[in-house]
Amino acid sequence: MRHGARLLLALFLSLGAAGPGACGPGEGTQAEKPAEKAPDPAVQARLEKAASVDTARVKSADAEPQNWLSYGRTYDEQRFSPLDQINASNVQELGLAFATDLLTDRGVEATPIVVDGVMFLSGPWSVVWALDAASGEELWFYDPKVPKAYGQKACCDVVNRGVAVYGGKVVVGTLDGYLVALDAKTGKEAWRVDTLIDRTQPYTITGAPRIVDGRVFIGNGGAEYGVRGYFSAYDVNDGNLLWRFFTVPGDPAKGFESPALEAAAKTWTGEWWKIGGGGTVWDSLVYDAELDLLYVGVGNGSPWNRKLRSPEGGDNLYLSSILAVKPQDGTLVWHYQTTPADNWDYTATQPMMLADLVIHGEPRKVLMQAPKNGFFYVLDRVTGELISADKYILATWASHVDMLSGRPVETGLADYMGAPALVMPGAPGGHNWQPMAFSPQTGLVYFTAMDLPGLYENDVDFVYKPGAWNTGTTFAHTTDVPPESLAGRLLAWDPARGRPKWAVEHWGPWNAGILATAGGLVFEGTGDGFVRAFKADDGALLWQAPAGTGVIAPPVTYSVGTEQYVAVAAGWGGAFPLFAGRAAKAAGVTSVGRLLAFKLGATGRLPPPDALPPPPEPPPLMEASAEDILKGRTLYNTYCGVCHGFGAVGGGVVPDLRHAAPQTHAQWQEIVRGGIRADGGMASFAQWVSEADANLIHAYVIKRAHEGDVPPPD
Ligand code: CA
Repeated sequence: MRHGARLLLALFLSLGAAGPGACGPGEGTQAEKPAEKAPDPAVQARLEKAASVDTARVKSADAEPQNWLSYGRTYDEQRFSPLDQINASNVQELGLAFATDLLTDRGVEATPIVVDGVMFLSGPWSVVWALDAASGEELWFYDPKVPKAYGQKACCDVVNRGVAVYGGKVVVGTLDGYLVALDAKTGKEAWRVDTLIDRTQPYTITGAPRIVDGRVFIGNGGAEYGVRGYFSAYDVNDGNLLWRFFTVPGDPAKGFESPALEAAAKTWTGEWWKIGGGGTVWDSLVYDAELDLLYVGVGNGSPWNRKLRSPEGGDNLYLSSILAVKPQDGTLVWHYQTTPADNWDYTATQPMMLADLVIHGEPRKVLMQAPKNGFFYVLDRVTGELISADKYILATWASHVDMLSGRPVETGLADYMGAPALVMPGAPGGHNWQPMAFSPQTGLVYFTAMDLPGLYENDVDFVYKPGAWNTGTTFAHTTDVPPESLAGRLLAWDPARGRPKWAVEHWGPWNAGILATAGGLVFEGTGDGFVRAFKADDGALLWQAPAGTGVIAPPVTYSVGTEQYVAVAAGWGGAFPLFAGRAAKAAGVTSVGRLLAFKLGATGRLPPPDALPPPPEPPPLMEASAEDILKGRTLYNTYCGVCHGFGAVGGGVVPDLRHAAPQTHAQWQEIVRGGIRADGGMASFAQWVSEADANLIHAYVIKRAHEGDVPPPD
């Protein structure tokens, strides 16, 4: 719409709203309201040109190394840039070019897309910016206005991992399950479709769409809550649904959607469909331009507990699997299941990358993934055949993967049907959503690995509670994770030999995705607030800069004119600082979202940190009985711990309840059950938590407010 036409429409609407005879001073007031900034045709033309990405361009992305055209830069998602202006000999001269405030205090996980000097970036609550990539200046901003109460349906923060740009459109999946295409010129919606099969179910979208030959691929999250997983293909022109692939079979009485699901149903027992089965596709979707296949990473079971999910056993296909499907219609070509009969939230949604490697003297076309379960997999991507699976952390649940059957051999140490079991890795995995990078110069895969054990305990009183967490495990005895049992590192993995070449230990487990460059460098942000550059061949630390907040998103690199930039969307958050507050506090950062861009010779400074909040007011008196406080702890762990931190210690993202203001204590019931803070992301729990239970939770929080971070032993 032209500017004049927009003003006319605004005036018309104002008259219509006021009604006949209402003319007078009000009319003039309306006309004098500051008009929307006139769109600059030159900027719009620049934006439109920048979004003119198509499949042919991404296939030949190396012909335009100045750009970062798709999520993993190239379809094979190696996150290796041919740019080498910034290299091992001059990286020390890297300085801050600009910092753009993203106006958020929630986790930032997105990969920016950069084309011809324009950056398209998503943020928490699925907002999108178009920015000038050389200055950070905003060109437009889009807010899908996700209802903040939806935060309750997101297991792992209200993050978004990125947009896809194609044919003049910018496509984003929203936390509340819509797929939206924006006109790249204006940032206005071109189309918007509901991807949810059932809007009453707690599905979310946090992953980045991928677009190939006009088809947009997207899946969703929600398997902690008890849903059925699927992924879909949409027409980028109009948002029409082209096909959908369910990852687990539904109720056999209703028939199966495909032969692949009929086959999968033979690996399930009992009435698995009643709690959805799980298998959500919340992150990795990778296109193989050579074989014309789409690879899809499938998530954990719903519930986690396999005895509840499929009581007579079975592998439960296609949970925790990598699927190869035809992008035209979703026909299954091959599958490989990393964790048969998943019992621990061991998703295979983690980032996948494609490469051509020489292994034992033979050239192989491989797919590589380090899923949560602690093994680094190299698969033949033509056939799905397992080439190797080697532990990248000290995983205790399986001794090894049997190379004849391709199956892991469980140790029994992770069986929690009797006593609770402390298992390595825990539910966050040995590696999570943070993207990996591969350097063809070194032949190494770089990723951030975590030592993060989890306590699993059978929920003997399990009852399905629609809309709540339904894992079939109880967190009743989960304390916060002791920081000293945690560790994390940048791992340089040799995929041809199945072992690390080098590793750099970090402050703790929750760190960032990786960028590798032809400058012989590997870039990684850290949870304790730095952006660092390492020498790709031996891991020597060459450069670091403060970010002023924890960094978890992967850096990208691009150039504008003659200058190469390294940029990262910084902002502490994601799953870890929500549930593991005490350990996350060790990072010593707060959550401030900002896009940081670095270039050689720049001397920019970070904005000063926000003033410290005033010290908390003293908590209310502790009046509850020890018995009630213990009951309160179980309830707290069940309903509050995953976001507000086990042990009631906040990790710097959502409020630390021990430091709640007197008003919060006074309005406890109205907040917890009445939903009066839903607009801030704290929706009502009245569906699951009674008034008496809310009081017990309050008693536990008050007790914790009188103690230090470390609760005294029971
Ligand atoms: Ca999960």
